[in-house]
Amino acid sequence: MPQKLLVLEDEENIRSFVVINLKRAGYDVIEAGTGEEALRLITAHPDTRLALLDIMLPGALDGLEVCRRLRAAHPGMGVIMLTAKTQELDKVTGLVSGADDYITKPFSPTELIARVDALSRRLGGGGEPSESSAKLRSGPFTLSARNRTLQKNGVKLKLTQVEFNIIKLFMENPDRALSREEILRRVWGEEYFGDLKIVDVNIRRLRIKIEDDTANPAFITTVWGFGYKWGG
Ligand code: CA
Repeated sequence: MPQKLLVLEDEENIRSFVVINLKRAGYDVIEAGTGEEALRLITAHPDTRLALLDIMLPGALDGLEVCRRLRAAHPGMGVIMLTAKTQELDKVTGLVSGADDYITKPFSPTELIARVDALSRRLGGGGEPSESSAKLRSGPFTLSARNRTLQKNGVKLKLTQVEFNIIKLFMENPDRALSREEILRRVWGEEYFGDLKIVDVNIRRLRIKIEDDTANPAFITTVWGFGYKWGG
């Protein structure tokens, strides 16, 4: 079954360029020109796996707001932002948006499809066999690979799929310093050609969700000039 993707873009030329290329790559695409329309479509198509969101849009909702709302309602959905300017990029890489990845315009069909394929694989939509049901435990955390859930003191935390994959990598490698390059490669995949900043963005967001004191992280600690480590 082809995976369903939403494309939100108000400029028709860009939207049809994106949609044609995604369809050619085998995706089932639904499209919207405003944030309001996008949210309506997602409600009507709850099987949508991934959303590509333009930021500047006509109407009351911009792409970042759509991203926040999608994240709240569908934490497992993949989100890629389509950004036009550096100022937009700063907002996207900020904490608030919750996007998994971003593509800067103008982009080639090859880059577009590579990014979408990579995120789609990370979301595990390809019908991969489920892993062992073994649970990983560390301090107050219990991670279930089968259910893809993380609990802290018995309370389930809302994580994106990318955040979950990062935590899993950490918990499988306790007390080992992981370089940002290694985290990028193992979570985003070999074919990912974005920059390292996306690792830091996701770590910052994860810390807000899992740390008791984000100013003094105790679980994901920084290894200066290198990367991050699970444990102090
Ligand atoms: Ca636009």
